[in-house]
Amino acid sequence: MELLNIKNLDLTNKKVFIRCDFNVPMDEFGNISDDRRIRSALTTLNYCLDQDCAIILASHLGRPKGEVNEKYSLAPISRRLHHLLKHEVTLASDVVGPDAMQKVKDMKCCDIILLENLRYEEGETTNDTALANKLADMADIYINDAFGVSHRAHASVEGITHFFDNDHKAAGFLLEREIKFFGKLINEPVRPFAAIVGGSKVSGKLEALKNLLPKVDKIFIGGGMAFTFLKQMGYEIGVSLVEDDLLSDAQDVMDEAKRLGVKFYLPVDVVAADKFSEDAISKIVTSQEIPENWMGLDIGPATVRLYREGLADVQTVLWNGPMGVYEMEKFARGSSKIAHFVADSYATTVVGGGDTADLVQRIGLDDEMSFISTGGGASLELLEGKILPGVAQLIIKED
Ligand code: AMP
Repeated sequence: MELLNIKNLDLTNKKVFIRCDFNVPMDEFGNISDDRRIRSALTTLNYCLDQDCAIILASHLGRPKGEVNEKYSLAPISRRLHHLLKHEVTLASDVVGPDAMQKVKDMKCCDIILLENLRYEEGETTNDTALANKLADMADIYINDAFGVSHRAHASVEGITHFFDNDHKAAGFLLEREIKFFGKLINEPVRPFAAIVGGSKVSGKLEALKNLLPKVDKIFIGGGMAFTFLKQMGYEIGVSLVEDDLLSDAQDVMDEAKRLGVKFYLPVDVVAADKFSEDAISKIVTSQEIPENWMGLDIGPATVRLYREGLADVQTVLWNGPMGVYEMEKFARGSSKIAHFVADSYATTVVGGGDTADLVQRIGLDDEMSFISTGGGASLELLEGKILPGVAQLIIKED
C-alpha cells in the first residue's frame, strides 16, 4: 500500500496540522510512565521543523468524554515534548476555542502549538464535520501520524482528511512505517511465518485469525482464548474463560487450518488457579485435567517447551496477545518465557501493540524485537485485512 508521502509536500512557511497519538499511560501522580508514543512522533516533528514550517499538534488523552477535565490535560505532554524536542511548545487552553484560534493566528515559522485534548470536544469521537472543518481551517497542510487511532473514524483522523486535497495532506513517518511494516509482513513474509495469538477472547481476534490462516505456516494459541478451542475439542476446562457462542467458529478455524496445512498449536498444559487473584492457589495441570471450578490463567511449562520447539525454525514471528494473565506475577511466566525466546531468536519479530507491547516492555525486551507497533487495535484491524478509516483518504495505491 502506497500512501501520500510527507516528503512530496511543500511545507516551507506553511501551517502544518499534525494529528499525533500522545495517549500515553500515566502513573497515580500524573507522571508519564511510558513516553514511547511521544518519542515515536519525533521523526515527523523534526522533519517538519527542518522544513521551516509552523506546527499545530493535536492528540487525545484518555477518555474525557466531551468535557473539559484537568485530569486529561495535555500539559504533561507539552512539557515532555519540550524536553525531547528542545524546542518551545505552547499549549493552547482549548481545542477550537478562542485561545487556540488566537495562538494559531499569531504563529510564525517554527512555532509549535499543542491544542488541548481533542476529546474535550464532543464532536471528535462522533466525527463531527463542523469540528473537522474548524480543525482543518487552522492549517494549510494535514499530516496523520497517529497510527494508534487510525482505526477510528474521528474528526481529527478521518473527517479532517476530506478538507485537504492530495497536495496538502500526507501520512507522517510513523504512520507510513507501521502501514508498510504490516503490509510487508502479511504479503511477503520470510517463511516459515508463525503467528502467536493470545489475549482474553476469541471474539476480539476471530477475524484476524481467519485472515492470518491463509498467510501463516504455524499458529500458536495462548491466553484465555485457548479455552474456547480446548472446550470445542471436548476438554473439561473448569471455569476458565470461554465463549460458548464461538465454539463452532473455533472449530471452523481449526478445520481451515487443517485444510490449509497450517500447523495449529494449543496449550498442552496450563497454570490453573482456584480464583482469579494473585493470592490464588495454583497448580500446573495438563489441559485434560483442569479441576472443576478452577480456571486456567497461564500456559504451563510443557506448552512453553512445545512452543519453543515449534518456533525454533521460523523466520518471521507475529505476536499479538499475552499467553496468560501477565498483569499478575504468578501468571506471567508463560508470556515471559515466550517473550525471551522470541526476543533471542534470529527471526524477524513483530509485536502487535497493546498488551503484548506492554508485557514485552515490562520485561525490558522491547529493544530486542524487530518491530513493536504503537497501536494495538489499529494493528489488529490491519491483520483483519481492513482499510483503516484514518488511512483511507491517504492511499495512492492499494496492495
Ligand atoms: P486482549 O485485550 O484480548 O489482548 O487480552 C489481554 C488480556 O487477556 C490481558 O489483560 C490478560 O490478563 C488477559 N488474559 C490472558 N490470559 C488469560 C486467561 N487465561 N484468563 C483470563 N484472562 C486472560
